[in-house]
Amino acid sequence: MLDKVLIANRGEIALRVLRACKELGIKTVAVHSTADRDLKHVLLADETICIGKPAASESYLDIPRIIAAAEVTDSVAIHPGYGFLSENADFADQVEKSGFIFIGPRGDTIRLMGDKVSAIEAMRKAGVPCVPGSDGPLTSDNERNLQIAKRIGYPVIIKAAGGGGGRGMRVVRNESELLNSIALTQSEAKQFFGNSMVYMEKFLENPRHIEVQVLADGQGNAIHLGERDCSMQRRHQKVVEEAPAPGITAEMRKYIGDRCVRACLEINYRGAGTFEFLYENGEFYFIEMNTRIQVEHPVTEMVTGIDLIKEQLKIAAGQPLSITQDDVVIRGHAIECRINAEDPTTFIPSPGKITRFHPAGGLGIRWDSHIYADYSVPPHYDSMIGKLITYGENRAVAIARSRNALNELVIEGIKTNTALHKKILADENFKNGGTNIHYLEKKLGL
Ligand code: ADP
Repeated sequence: MLDKVLIANRGEIALRVLRACKELGIKTVAVHSTADRDLKHVLLADETICIGKPAASESYLDIPRIIAAAEVTDSVAIHPGYGFLSENADFADQVEKSGFIFIGPRGDTIRLMGDKVSAIEAMRKAGVPCVPGSDGPLTSDNERNLQIAKRIGYPVIIKAAGGGGGRGMRVVRNESELLNSIALTQSEAKQFFGNSMVYMEKFLENPRHIEVQVLADGQGNAIHLGERDCSMQRRHQKVVEEAPAPGITAEMRKYIGDRCVRACLEINYRGAGTFEFLYENGEFYFIEMNTRIQVEHPVTEMVTGIDLIKEQLKIAAGQPLSITQDDVVIRGHAIECRINAEDPTTFIPSPGKITRFHPAGGLGIRWDSHIYADYSVPPHYDSMIGKLITYGENRAVAIARSRNALNELVIEGIKTNTALHKKILADENFKNGGTNIHYLEKKLGL
């Protein structure tokens, strides 16, 4: 097993990684900014190092400082969590060049999947179903671009190859707008991502977001752990996630899961990863792969009983996968509510001091969070302060437990989006399951 792991992140995921390390007897190093001295995992880690100022660019995104911290603490591996440097191929390369283990895939894999054009090409080759599209970047040949759109059929969507965070996309509903939209997306892509390459896809009107969790050891073994439904979104940000996805049968799970596994073997994937799909009229369409652990990983853990972070650590230690596909059994249902420090109606962030705090509890309740009474939520980072995850033997039980738990949860001194979650969980259409990615914004009148 690894001797000592440096956790290059903050908040709930840093605490989640720390807990997994402790279970495996791995020593932990917490790096933190000057705004984060009081983070729970910093208080619990074996060693701590302040790596810079509150601005992420001067701490959590500063590669030389993180590698220097690994050096002075004699860490053997670095866990990047999610966000920050977790999908930065240069970081992964520099970590390994400096003699440390990067807990994730190789830099080359991150690079391949980080460019959406090359990712789609690799997935298509591996037999993963993709959205009908341009099969490569658009060129300056206007005639060709018009032909591609005609073949796909309007509406189409123009997307930046290097895009992320829901930016660098434009929907085109008719031919007269096409060329202008391509030019606009290209210049935005250049400006935001330093890469003007764009591609075209069929625009799906009312899809659901369904994603498949995988684990691979980079030694010829890969498995999938079923799917999650993350369709409840606002501005492309997931709000509520669940596993399994309502209406997905065991046969469909096997169909799409097997294709993801084959793709992992094809690209010699290593670590935990997620294949994201849009799902419409019974068909899956690959949109991108996340080469890291995701925020919503706990719902998969709850229905499979597999600790994904411990598996990441074991894979990083060079152990072959100890779980086979037959060992993965989906049981019951799990739902995650992302609790954010924000106004529940305006969504404006609400940092500040938590004056009173009482977590929810009871059978099937899991609270993944770094907050405590008297903790001050700093204004510099993402507003997510915790995840309320509930498990039940079926979806109705999981929903009932989530509603109880939301009523029990007390966080005072700052605003949170708990009221929004109560509204979603009481919604008749949510209760029926299978709402699409536009449902929440429509419900909220946005
Ligand atoms: P990002 O990396 O910026 O998150 P994605 O490719 O994952 O970009 O797309 C983000 C979101 O944009 C999707 O979840 C979906 O809501 C929308 N989207 C992307 N491609 C399509 C498409 N072909 N049809 C309809 N919606 C799409």
